[in-house]
Amino acid sequence: MKVFNEQHAMFRASVRSFVEREVAPHIDAWEAAGRIPKSIWPRMGELGLLGVEYDEKYGGGGADLLTSVVLHEECARSRCASFAMAVGVHTDMASPHLYWTGSEALKARYLPAVCRGERLTAIAVTEPGGGSDVAALRTRAVRDGDHYVLNGSKMFITNGATADLYLVAARVAAGDADRRHRGISMFLVERETPGFVVSRTLDKMGMRASDTAELSFQDMRVPAEHLLGREGVGFYEVMRVFQRERLVTGIQAHAMAERALEDTIAYVRERHAFGGPLADKQVVRHRLADLATLIEASRCLTYAACLKYQAGEEVVREISMVKLFSAEMVNRVAYDCVQLHGGYGYMREYAIERFARDARLLTIGGGTSEVMKEIIARLLLP
Ligand SMILES: Cc1cc2nc3c(=O)[nH]c(=O)nc-3n(C[C@H](O)[C@H](O)[C@H](O)COP(=O)(O)OP(=O)(O)OC[C@H]3O[C@@H](n4cnc5c(N)ncnc54)[C@H](O)[C@@H]3O)c2cc1C
Repeated sequence: MKVFNEQHAMFRASVRSFVEREVAPHIDAWEAAGRIPKSIWPRMGELGLLGVEYDEKYGGGGADLLTSVVLHEECARSRCASFAMAVGVHTDMASPHLYWTGSEALKARYLPAVCRGERLTAIAVTEPGGGSDVAALRTRAVRDGDHYVLNGSKMFITNGATADLYLVAARVAAGDADRRHRGISMFLVERETPGFVVSRTLDKMGMRASDTAELSFQDMRVPAEHLLGREGVGFYEVMRVFQRERLVTGIQAHAMAERALEDTIAYVRERHAFGGPLADKQVVRHRLADLATLIEASRCLTYAACLKYQAGEEVVREISMVKLFSAEMVNRVAYDCVQLHGGYGYMREYAIERFARDARLLTIGGGTSEVMKEIIARLLLP
């Protein structure tokens, strides 16, 4: 499938070079620290890697969706999925709320710093009481003069401990049955706002270089002009940005899996057992062939959805399938690649061990596999 042009190829080479020189050497230190140093963001801004699709008048690159695909593939190839996730949250999961629904004044004020990497963004939707049922969220926003007063808490927020700007979902109207969805609004919140608290940084199984936090809002006064879009449309905006997030997850999944497969092929060539390299054993070769086929299927499904998305077509069904298939695929690849590494696959010093822990998140974050099946089934059986 021919998808990319010359410009995309040049962009790919520059992102790859950045990742090899400025990300790969630091992965172990970032994993141990549980966070990525803030200095990486202005550097990525300087290289034009943040806001690649945003309008140039806000400091963006004015490029197409496929340029973002290249960015996320190359970040995910880094063997540090948590770095790729932190980037994806900033560029494609949090800041689009501002770009798509923020007022002109808000965009002019904040987007240039977002594109320069001077202000890192986070998206705060999930709450301690639940993430799958977004319409049930309980954080309240009450209008008081020219402010909204927010009270509530958010859970599992990527970039949560280190961000500067938070895109927060809160309920403005009471949550009775038919206003469940229509009562939700999105707000842009500055970290320095009184009442904003990072309650704790969470300790995770994988994705350890990316910080994940629980947040709490205690009588947090947010200027009314920081409401994004109209009051009550927040749920639909969260769903719109979810499409983007799920597409990016699909891109990251096949790029992560491809790198793991490359590492595993290199390993089975080197490793000898029963008088020859593992790579000569038919059972090993067939297993690798299965994995390569799964990865290719995932890539094709994702690229096809990207092209439809770029053409402005309705793609909820396709994107839900991408998220479901790619997240399950990367976990199958992780299981088999660890197995093919034998005992070394279980050791921290091998990148494949980190890959397996990181991959586990993909069937959970951004909408679980079960939720994806619900969406697909609802479209199949209306
Ligand atoms: C590392 C990490 C980073 C994250 N980053 C962010 C972030 O930046 N911002 C943010 O807002 N959120 C973030 N999340 C939250 C993530 O999106 C949620 O964890 C996810 O949506 C699932 O919600 P939950 O954890 O509350 O699980 P629940 O909704 O409680 O679900 C628990 C289980 O029940 C299943 N289930 C739920 N409903 C149904 C149903 N109707 N039918 C069948 N099964 C069902 C689920 O599939 C799951 O298996 C992150 C999570 C993690 C772990």
